[in-house]
Amino acid sequence: MSNQEKFFMLTFDVEKNFPPHGKSYEGVSEALPKILDVLDDEGIRTTMFVTGRSAELHPDVIRRASKKHEIQCHTYNHDILDSMTKDEQMASISKCKEILESVTGKEVYGFRAPYLRFNRDTIEVLKELGFKYDSSILRRTLIGHGLNAIKKVNKELLELVLNPGEELIKFHKSMAEMISKTMSLRKMTKKDAARFFYYITSPSQFIESRTENAIESSGLREVKINLRSIILRLPTFNASMIDEDVVVGYLHPWEFIDLKKYIDITGLLMFNWLFSGERLLNALHERIRSIKARGYKFVTMSEYIELSGGFEKQI
Ligand SMILES: [Zn+2]
Repeated sequence: MSNQEKFFMLTFDVEKNFPPHGKSYEGVSEALPKILDVLDDEGIRTTMFVTGRSAELHPDVIRRASKKHEIQCHTYNHDILDSMTKDEQMASISKCKEILESVTGKEVYGFRAPYLRFNRDTIEVLKELGFKYDSSILRRTLIGHGLNAIKKVNKELLELVLNPGEELIKFHKSMAEMISKTMSLRKMTKKDAARFFYYITSPSQFIESRTENAIESSGLREVKINLRSIILRLPTFNASMIDEDVVVGYLHPWEFIDLKKYIDITGLLMFNWLFSGERLLNALHERIRSIKARGYKFVTMSEYIELSGGFEKQI
């Protein structure tokens, strides 16, 4: 790859509505076909990590998606892998792979763990099942080096979450500036604010660094996420906020429906603040164009891996 090339991998985790809170699948049945229309209009290909259950319930939507997009595994039923035995993980992942392959007629060899939670057994299972790459690690940055200082904020937030009686959060300046443009902090309780910011700033809280090292020595290629869905959904999102040449962003189809219709979100106030539903669908066009205008080429995860040294190479 030359230095000038910039790649954007847009990925979707296709699953029941807002796990673990939702049970139904309107994100898949209603939103995903509309998302596919937008992606068709923009002529871009994406990577979708699909649960086996989504494909069982809505095979036609997943089959349509597979004609242009890369379909990979997100376990059978959005399972919490690091609370399961190795045999249970094997059952969930192999069942998902089987269902997706039978629905799409294509080989499944890429993986993303639900909630980005997994352990060493997961890596062994993936190897035993012939998987070639994983994308379950979210780098501890929001957008890139520009906001890398978020790391420092995490510790304070964690303390606040564990001990909500503490004084107000001390935000890092750049974080505070960005967030203050998009939502009213005054309406949040301290505890909600702590939970919210902890949620968006501590992506890898479940991943121990030795697990990361284990992936690197396993032969599985790791493609880390570095752009959280919440950032792609911010009303003020603009591609100029991105300062990395290789970007892996992710979204979920359920972010494009009116969740309030399907889930009692009382207490999950974050969805009153975030940009979601039909409005996000309308914004998707404009966001893709803004990313293209910054010189990014949209590629699937496998396309990127092939362009950057192949499945054997660790980067
Ligand atoms: Zn998921």
